[in-house]
Amino acid sequence: MSDLFTTIVRSPVARKVGVPQPTRLRRFEPGMPLCEGPVLVAGDGRFADGIAAWLGGAGVPAVSTPPGEGDKVGAVVLDLSAATDPAELDQLRLLGAPAVKALKRNGRVVVVGTDPTTLTDVAAVTTQRALEGAVRSIGKELRGGATANLVLAQGDAHDGVRSAVEFLLSGRSAYVDGQVIRVDDSTSGDVDALRPLEGKVAVVTGAARGIGAEIARVLSRDGATVVAVDLPAAGDSLAAVANDVRGTALQLDVTADDAGGRIVEHATARHGGLDIVVHNAGITRDKLFVNMDDDRWRSVMEVNLRSVLRMNEAILGEGGLADGGRIVCVASIAGIAGNRGQTNYGASKAGVIGLVTALSRQVADRGITVNAVAPGFIETEMTARIPFATREIGRRMNSLQQGGHPKDVAETIAWFAQPGAAAVTGQVVRVCGQSLLGA
Ligand code: NAD
Repeated sequence: MSDLFTTIVRSPVARKVGVPQPTRLRRFEPGMPLCEGPVLVAGDGRFADGIAAWLGGAGVPAVSTPPGEGDKVGAVVLDLSAATDPAELDQLRLLGAPAVKALKRNGRVVVVGTDPTTLTDVAAVTTQRALEGAVRSIGKELRGGATANLVLAQGDAHDGVRSAVEFLLSGRSAYVDGQVIRVDDSTSGDVDALRPLEGKVAVVTGAARGIGAEIARVLSRDGATVVAVDLPAAGDSLAAVANDVRGTALQLDVTADDAGGRIVEHATARHGGLDIVVHNAGITRDKLFVNMDDDRWRSVMEVNLRSVLRMNEAILGEGGLADGGRIVCVASIAGIAGNRGQTNYGASKAGVIGLVTALSRQVADRGITVNAVAPGFIETEMTARIPFATREIGRRMNSLQQGGHPKDVAETIAWFAQPGAAAVTGQVVRVCGQSLLGA
């Protein structure tokens, strides 16, 4: 989405006089290489050898020594999962700094550690926790569309590490920056890189426009059959999205008592089952807290939070979501940082994060994962309506110095939905370009 400001900033005159230009991000398109090579894979943790091996298998050359003078790397993966003493953090600097210096545009820094919550030794916990501060700081220093993220592994989480590292190296994570992703030791089989969701049936609420429509498109591109859900009033655009993705449309108010039951009924009757549910429908009704009225408070809570709790009861009941299924919620950085005029919205989106944490534990024995994305400033009709000055601040106040696209949110959701992401549950990944809000 473009506007007058963006047009001016990108104009030849602006370029000539040196107005800073946000880097065009390398976004995933089917068939493109996983990432630009070579990738430096270093560190003496338990995952480095496996990562180098599967990168080679994916056609991306992996090297084990920092680049020499004049050499460039597409990414650096540092495995510090074995570090148990703060002195070992020096590896991060010694191996990482020369590689970061030699990073190409849209490069990637991915650090792999051990989840400190699984450790008891004080020095080991201290060391692993320190990685978070280092990686988030690196993210804030990188330029040229490059990102830095941390994967924290429980035990021998080889499949989980592979899935998360692959996502973070790829163009699917173009607007994911400064994040910490935890993976457990669940195993998963090989995934078809081009159509990882082949044979799956996915439901997306709020799919008639904006982020929801893009989620429908990306899930369909990745092989899923999509049921697009939205209000009857959005019927025409809903039908257009459903046709576009060769799925079906279900006109439904998610706040209806029987919404969950109707979703299950539609998916099973029309498509033979239900594997993925994306709770994307959401509204804002902003007002300062002291002036917040009953209607604004209740409607936001109903659409963004209570409906999700209610629908999940039916979706997780007999004949609903298949074992090994996926639930993905859409939170917001307003649910993490809070936002002026948004007590209702902030509460609802923080509630979604609580829901994801609690529900993921409850359904783990069925192999079902529950995760959330928390978008930052995303270029949609909603954000286009924000007054000019506020919009510009929102758009630029992140490490990538630009707004994200609906596709960026959709790509993270599609990754959560992949069979290969079985080890990723109870997580909230911010798709915000490392926004300064709530950082
Ligand atoms: P949008 O307003 O463009 O789209 C929301 C869709 O949800 C609409 O099609 C609407 O008709 C539908 N919807 C609303 N109430 C419904 C109901 N009761 N039943 C069924 N459908 C309903 O919004 P968007 O920008 O695409 O946002 C999508 C999600 O992302 C929301 O949950 C929003 O809170 C979240 N989000 C957006 C941003 C952003 O920058 N745009 C940032 C953070 C979070």
